[in-house]
Formats: sequence, C-alpha cells, structure tokens
Amino acid sequence: MRPTEAIIDLAALRSNLEVARRLAPTSRILAVVKANAYGHGAERVSAALTEYVDAFGVATITEALALRVSGIERPILLLEGFFEAAEIPDIVQHRLDIVIGNEEQLHAFLAADLHRPLRVWLKVDTGMHRLGFCPEKFDVAYSRLKASDAVADIIVMSHFAEADRTEGLGTPTQLALFESKTAHLNAPASLANSAAVLAWPSTHRDWIRPGLMLYGLSPLDRLTSEADTLRPVMTLRSSLSLVRTVEAGEAIGYGGRSVCAERTRVGVVPLGYADGYPREAPDGTPVLVAGRPSRVLGQVSMDMITVDLENIPEAQVGTPVELWGAELSATDVAEIVGTINYTLITGVSARVPRRYV
Ligand SMILES: *Cc1c(COP(=O)(O)O)cnc(C)c1O
Repeated sequence: MRPTEAIIDLAALRSNLEVARRLAPTSRILAVVKANAYGHGAERVSAALTEYVDAFGVATITEALALRVSGIERPILLLEGFFEAAEIPDIVQHRLDIVIGNEEQLHAFLAADLHRPLRVWLKVDTGMHRLGFCPEKFDVAYSRLKASDAVADIIVMSHFAEADRTEGLGTPTQLALFESKTAHLNAPASLANSAAVLAWPSTHRDWIRPGLMLYGLSPLDRLTSEADTLRPVMTLRSSLSLVRTVEAGEAIGYGGRSVCAERTRVGVVPLGYADGYPREAPDGTPVLVAGRPSRVLGQVSMDMITVDLENIPEAQVGTPVELWGAELSATDVAEIVGTINYTLITGVSARVPRRYV
C-alpha cells in the first residue's frame, strides 16, 4: 500500500475541547465540524465529541444529514441556514437548527408549513458584511420570529471579521454594536469562533462556536499561552519511496525549478497536490524526514514531491516523512506556502486514508 496517510489523534481532539471549555467555562459549546471536520472526518470526529459538546455546526444540509445517518443525536446547526426553501422539510424531519440571516430566508421560513417548531439562530451583521441582517433590520426580524409558532426559541448571533488580530478595534466595535442591538432581548447569544474563544473572553457569552482550535491549530496572529496548549490532531505523513542522487547542475522535477548546486541526495515522497499537499509550496518548504528538518526541492507534482536528504545520511526507502502535524506545525508550513493553516487541513483529499488513533 502507498504509505501516505493522515493520522487523526482523537485524544488530542478531546484535549483541545477541554482547552475551549476551560477558557469559556460557563458557555455551551457548538463544535464546528463543517468541511468534513476540517478534513479530519466529520463522522469520526463528531462521534468522538458528541458526549462532551452541546451541538454541532455544519455548512450544508448534506453534511448535517450524514451526521444524522451516522447516529449523531445532538442539535446540528446549519451555519448558513438553508439555500432554498426545498430544504425545509428535511430540516424539520431531522431536527436541524438553522441560521436565519437575510430577508429571503426569513420570508421562506415564515411561509413554510412546519409541523414542529425549530430553534433559530438569528444573525446580525455587526461588521463582517457577509451574512446577517443589517442592524436596522434586525429588530423587525426578531419580532417576526418571536411572534411565529414555527420558532421554538431564538439565539442571537454574529460573526467576527478579525478576531484573529489580538489587538485592534475591530472586534470590540462589533461586540459593542451587537450589545446595543441585543442586550434588551434577554436572548441567549453566540459570537465566538476559535479566535474569539482564545483571545476575546468578553465575547464568550452563552454559546461558543470553536472550529479550528478543536483541531489543534491557532488562528491568532501571535502565540498566546492558551493557544500554545493546543495539540495538532492531524499528522499528514508518508515515507520515502525512492532515494537517489542528482548530479551538480542537474534540475529536479517539472520545469527544472530546483537546480542542484552540488551532487545532492534526494528522496521521493508519494504524496502530491492531488492529496492536498499545496502545489504552491516553494523550494525550502519544511518537512521532517526521520524526525529531522528537511525541505521540499523541486515543483510539487500531482502524486509526488521530492525532498532534500543532504543532511540525513541515514534516510532510505521506508524512512518516515511528516508533512505537517504533531512535530511540524501546519501553521509554519502555511506561512511559507503563503496560505493559512485552515486551507492545508481542509484540503487533504479523499485519496488520503485517515487513520484514527
Ligand atoms: C466556520 C465557522 C466558525 C468556526 O470558525 P473557526 O475560526 O474555525 O473557529 C464559527 N462560526 C461560524 C458562523 C462559522 O461559519
């Protein structure tokens, strides 16, 4: 078998959940498991967390129904609500919570004939300017939902645009606007994504919505002591499938990007951009070979990469390679690649087997 795999450490997952709980001890926890639990496998991750969390969050009804089929009984929130009214019967049947964040959703929801009331998360746009009612329209939307038999209860919510910046006025400004629109309603409130859980305690309120931090990575622009206690859940690993020597002056891989200044020992790793390893990775992107620092040499191909073995004389076919994970932070790899840790972990493709430990 090809040795490439993503090891998913469920003990690390639960440990990260405990970090969130410790930071927000009086809040309920909605664990965000959209996008196949950020590439970790939504069913296994949700099964591992369901005892310890109050709800799950996903982006699409397909994701929600897959969790119901796999036996998840907890509330599941559609974080963007529904995309068309045709989804409403399934939402009711499978007891899903929905976000309502614009007039179209509100009208479609109020016009639908539900035989069971739903929990609604009413979203106000406090500055992200993506989803949510603008503040002037929020009160009317709230009153209409409050008056509807179709609504079991209402949670008021908003989303931060820059909670990852640990300083600056963006988040306090959004929070103040949220307070001014919702404080008098006495409704449960939810604002905090991972960044806000880690860096903005005043935003924790009744429900936190951590995603990335559960997977052991930090969204913050600097290291904090809390973020430092997170443990990466995914380790993307493989092993050398070939070791060879390339002569001085010869180039490695497509386009001849990496020309060897001297005779160089090179290893082939059977993983490429079709597995989710970023094609944008430049020469010098860090990898670990036998636990020791090495680097990508040459263009990433669809099914393979090539790495420098010059300082790792013991490397041979079968020597383990870590692309990111427990020993090499996906955050550091992302920085060199010019992306963010979110895209690396969510990008690991279906071809890579997940192994749960
Ligand atoms: C994805 C998402 C989250 C989780 O964000 P992280 O930065 O991964 O913690 C929280 N809330 C909403 C509405 C989301 O869409």
